[in-house]
Amino acid sequence: MERLKQAIRERGNVLSDEVLKVDTFLNHQVDVNLMSAVGEEFARLFKAEGITKVLTIESSGIAPSFMAASSLGTTLIFARKKKSLTMNENVFVSKVYSFTKRETNEITVSKDFLSKNDTVLIIDDFLANGQAALGLIDIVHQASAKVAGLGIVIEKSFQDGRKQLVEKGYRVESLARIHSLENGRVTFVDELVT
Ligand code: 5GP
Repeated sequence: MERLKQAIRERGNVLSDEVLKVDTFLNHQVDVNLMSAVGEEFARLFKAEGITKVLTIESSGIAPSFMAASSLGTTLIFARKKKSLTMNENVFVSKVYSFTKRETNEITVSKDFLSKNDTVLIIDDFLANGQAALGLIDIVHQASAKVAGLGIVIEKSFQDGRKQLVEKGYRVESLARIHSLENGRVTFVDELVT
């Protein structure tokens, strides 16, 4: 998605060879026009799948997922990283190792909100090693629901998340695929000269 790639180039900040900071438009301050376009693109890609729920993880997945769910005319669920006081034991739980925070979180979704009748589109802001995506897939499976696919805003293609998901048979649609962050520069997969 050209507009997203332009935002990454102009407003992204390469923190290291592995980490990209995009708090100017996605992870802290949110560019709602850009997220709206991102959501519409996910909706276009997955509208034929009969999506009944969009599922993400708080907090950075919420902005793009909200827009996608709105475009699809469906409901958004965000998995919680900390169990809230109002949440009882009626939850699906999975463990997710966080790439950026170097810690394992238990993510939870209420059993009231996912069932075997659901076809779920999983969305996240970044795909790195695939841990967040696999945790969300695990929760969909615990509910005996169907995973329609994964919508990723920014994929770091030099890490093995995509490979893991594709090998397991999942459809992965990433709107920007980063080949490298080396030397403080972002290069995209579709810009590689072959
Ligand atoms: P994974 O679970 O695929 O290893 O990592 C994905 C999760 O880690 C995303 O939910 C995202 O919040 C975070 N993440 C991974 N890489 C980056 C990065 O380069 N920048 C930012 N801002 N978050 C990242």
